[in-house]
Amino acid sequence: MQKQYKALSLLSGGLDSQLAIRVLLEQGIHVEAITFRSPFFGTAKGEAAAKALGVKHHIVDFTEDILEQVQNPAHGLGKAMNPCIDCHTHMIMRAGELMEEWGFDFIATGEVLAQRPMSQNKQSLGVVARCSKYEDLLVRPLCAALLPPTKPIREGWVDVAKLPAFSGRNRTPQMELAATFGLKDYPAPAGGCLLTEKRFGNKLKDLLDHEGLDHDRTNVWLLKVGRHMRLSDDVKIIVGSDQADNDLLEAKAHPDDLRITCPDVPGPTVIAPSNISEEQLKTAAAICARYAKTPSGEPVKVLIENGSESRNISVVPMHPDDVVQYMVVS
Ligand code: SF4
Repeated sequence: MQKQYKALSLLSGGLDSQLAIRVLLEQGIHVEAITFRSPFFGTAKGEAAAKALGVKHHIVDFTEDILEQVQNPAHGLGKAMNPCIDCHTHMIMRAGELMEEWGFDFIATGEVLAQRPMSQNKQSLGVVARCSKYEDLLVRPLCAALLPPTKPIREGWVDVAKLPAFSGRNRTPQMELAATFGLKDYPAPAGGCLLTEKRFGNKLKDLLDHEGLDHDRTNVWLLKVGRHMRLSDDVKIIVGSDQADNDLLEAKAHPDDLRITCPDVPGPTVIAPSNISEEQLKTAAAICARYAKTPSGEPVKVLIENGSESRNISVVPMHPDDVVQYMVVS
């Protein structure tokens, strides 16, 4: 009986990672998929893709790994706060560790040579492979024919002659191959990682430069919620943008945080740290009133809750032009 080789394949849910799995399945290789989760990218696309492909799916938390890479990017950041080369490297490294632990033979990824000018050129792919420590057990099925052969290719576990040889940014060949597999539902390329977005990156940088990371990383997850306003180096408030934000802020606020609302009208929940000064509290209350449904320019009642204590103050809503100065991302 010929051995059935087992591949653990990274699956973002995008077309390339789906195709990488499909071409290995075509060769009779047992493939399972792994998707990493973090505050910056989710697993929904990977979950849907694994289901469509009919492969077993593993979700692995990558939060600490990516936070370390963001803060200490050995190969630098991209246009925003995205440490893509280090991120790829560590995803492959984690997958390699799990490959060994779970008894797989090799790792696969959907990378395509020269598809991204910085992180997927030939040199970057080489750096990622070497730094991952699993260089010789890594197969990139979509472009393996264009790269030095690794052990699974040399030993014939994977037949490179039957693999595509994709390179460059033109995605037509991938779409044509997808059509032959009947793959129709795949997400558009790019998108999906908040670290590549400048505005989000600025919020993360502001957090790292001021508060730093809290022990359970709640303050990182909260970067996705509401409007972030910095009142001073050590005081940032978060203003809910809608009811979902308000609910999340209520649920995730630190027990010591102050809660600011306009009790008589619909409006945001604002959370503020316990070290906020009285003067800053008035500013936060005026910002809260600015986003509440109140007649502009009229004094509004604002409720400030601090644990079991609460009090009302009256403030004039801040003029929208004046709010801009506090926005972390304006
Ligand atoms: S885009 Fe985001 S998830 Fe993808 S490699 Fe870059 S940092 Fe990592």
